[in-house]
Amino acid sequence: MSKKSYKYLFFDLDHTLWDFDANAREVLQELYHHHDLANMGIESADHFWDRFYTTNNGLWAKYNKGEIDKFYLRNERFKLIFEAAGAVMPLVQDNFLKEFNKQFLHLCPRKSKLIDGAMDLLEQLHGKYPMFIITNGFEEVQSIKMASSGIGHFFDRVITSEKAGFKKPYAGIFNYAMKWCQAHPEKSLMIGDNLGADVVGAREYGMDQVYFNPEGQVHEEEVTYEVSHLSEIHSIIAQPLR
Ligand SMILES: [Mg+2]
Repeated sequence: MSKKSYKYLFFDLDHTLWDFDANAREVLQELYHHHDLANMGIESADHFWDRFYTTNNGLWAKYNKGEIDKFYLRNERFKLIFEAAGAVMPLVQDNFLKEFNKQFLHLCPRKSKLIDGAMDLLEQLHGKYPMFIITNGFEEVQSIKMASSGIGHFFDRVITSEKAGFKKPYAGIFNYAMKWCQAHPEKSLMIGDNLGADVVGAREYGMDQVYFNPEGQVHEEEVTYEVSHLSEIHSIIAQPLR
């Protein structure tokens, strides 16, 4: 494939740069032991993580489609996860779940683990390109995640769906990003792990895309580039467009 040059780089944050799964898993493990969840009937920290992963991903897919709102996601999440993990629900008070959720939301964005290759890639590209984040994650935690993991200074702007009033994959958020970042879709590249929100969203808007697909998900979408490791992106965007 002949290589195109780009002028503006847009990145997704969760699961593309910031390792949501590793960071959330670490926090849940800490909270599992701190609150002695074995005593509430949840057999192990690994099992708790496993149920969190499935339930949370399901809720986020609904959130991205607009089927549930932030309030529901935030407030009902742990009730569903505790149920799914086999907790003895009469032992799990609403106040406890509220506090648990608060602790999770406080601790998780303060974890620093990045996806393998992320720091190296950002260091290489920094100064060569203006770089931006486009995220459906919540306004109040995304900047904490970027600061905790030491990547905040690489980015010129952070566009959240809350600020834009539209979520990826909708054109509204890309439109907002282009204006706010003074960029042009035909000179921009979107890099993200979510095939629908990041990749198809950007493609429909007229941007080229890199699908970061570490698990080799099978799909039939037409994508500009697909990589299984972030290090492969170096060769795609070695030189910016002049
Ligand atoms: Mg993502």
